[in-house]
Amino acid sequence: MTAFPFSLENPIEWPGPPPASADVVVVGAGVIGVTCALFLARRGLSVTLLEKGRVAGEQSSRNWGWIRQQGRAPEELPIAGEACSLWRQLARECGEDVGLAPGGVTYFAHTDKEMAALHEWMPHARAHGLDTHLMDGAQTAALIPGMSRQVIGAMETPSDMRAEPWKAVPALARLAAREGVTIVENCAVRTLDVMAGRVAGVVTEAGRIQADEVVVAGGAWSSLLLRQSGIDLPQLSVRGTVMATEPLKQVYAGAATDDKVAFRRRQDGGYTLAAAGFHELFLGPDAFRHCRRYLPALREDPLGTRFKLAAPAGFPDAWRLARRWSADRPTPFERMRMLDPAPNARVVRDTPRAFAKRFPGLGEVRVKAAWAGMIDAMPDVLPVVDRCTALPGLTVGTGMSAHGFGIGPGFGRVLADLVVGRETGHDLSRFRLTRFSDGSPIRPGPAL
Ligand SMILES: Cc1cc2nc3c(=O)[nH]c(=O)nc-3n(C[C@H](O)[C@H](O)[C@H](O)COP(=O)(O)OP(=O)(O)OC[C@H]3O[C@@H](n4cnc5c(N)ncnc54)[C@H](O)[C@@H]3O)c2cc1C
Repeated sequence: MTAFPFSLENPIEWPGPPPASADVVVVGAGVIGVTCALFLARRGLSVTLLEKGRVAGEQSSRNWGWIRQQGRAPEELPIAGEACSLWRQLARECGEDVGLAPGGVTYFAHTDKEMAALHEWMPHARAHGLDTHLMDGAQTAALIPGMSRQVIGAMETPSDMRAEPWKAVPALARLAAREGVTIVENCAVRTLDVMAGRVAGVVTEAGRIQADEVVVAGGAWSSLLLRQSGIDLPQLSVRGTVMATEPLKQVYAGAATDDKVAFRRRQDGGYTLAAAGFHELFLGPDAFRHCRRYLPALREDPLGTRFKLAAPAGFPDAWRLARRWSADRPTPFERMRMLDPAPNARVVRDTPRAFAKRFPGLGEVRVKAAWAGMIDAMPDVLPVVDRCTALPGLTVGTGMSAHGFGIGPGFGRVLADLVVGRETGHDLSRFRLTRFSDGSPIRPGPAL
């Protein structure tokens, strides 16, 4: 078995040096930063995209590759729909194979309670004109044959898609570079540069870059960076373990999940597997600081989160991690160029077995690679996409809460329009930064 195919040994594609100034600096080259930078360039601005490690080295290459509208919060659906159109358009414009394919997304139900939850979501699908439909057990078995475990029904959205993340996001970065974005890898942003109460640029390990506008799209690190400027973002991150199997017969062209196993057909003929509804929170100071705000989500899904005693050194919420620093010295960002957590060995052992048991006709399920990613999450399991009123010139796009890959290009486009002051075309109030501090109740998005 090999490790994740993406590592710091990958050659640096964008060595810099960074420029002295730009109209906009975007911090973090995951799917959000890359697509935001691309759309900013399309709005005619000079854009510098800074990445402490490698483009897409963290969540944006490690995810399951599901591009789904199904099961999302209603406020996200128009943006997820736009993201699907953008994925198709950008995949063509990239001129590279990103593994984008239709195939659908299916959620299985084994109990009446699970089926009722699927029924409850259907009005959202109808309101947004999605092709989502419910199936009974027989219809599900006809769609996905060979399953040993009886289901009482399922929900499918045939127009949902999949892509190969480690191909797609670097390809989008190359498209952005062709359209004028200056990308610099191995270039950590140490702090925002703030003058006279507004953003004046960033201080990087390679020096200062002047910019009137900065977008923070730092994934699991956003909270740590924003804290240097006094902005409190109650963000945590959890470990998700993922595996890729050797090629196997196709049972479904898309992605599907029950309560234990999630699988997605891969372009190379295998499946990407994961333990469904299972992630691990390493308890650190931020986990304790923010625990009250996470209680509503924990109550809705009490078994999904497993707690681990302490984060390994250098992780975003590690006990001994520096929380404050001066910009003239190396920071936690340079010390952890690429967050590459070890996968959970038990999950790597048990998940392929569970998948094989569900599909006995597939024969032996052999895992060729296993890896993990730290998923950044917010208390209501919804992103923060907003202008920061407390610090003019700052825009935040982070906390994608395990579903930012699929919706990424949609939020990337929205963020670019927020920066230039254009109408975004969407109601973004549910994603506002202040919702955790203005006394609003915390309302978790759907736990589907
Ligand atoms: C195991 C797993 C499975 C998932 N499955 C899915 C799925 O199937 N579908 C889906 O839609 N989503 C999925 N997600 C979620 C999705 O991958 C993320 O929501 C999305 O990739 C987040 O993108 P991002 O750009 O916000 O963050 P990231 O991809 O994490 O990028 C942030 C980047 O910012 C850089 N950075 C941080 N701080 C600094 C700094 N100070 N200076 C310079 N650079 C900095 C980091 O190095 C990083 O590269 C999954 C995630 C994981 C981990």
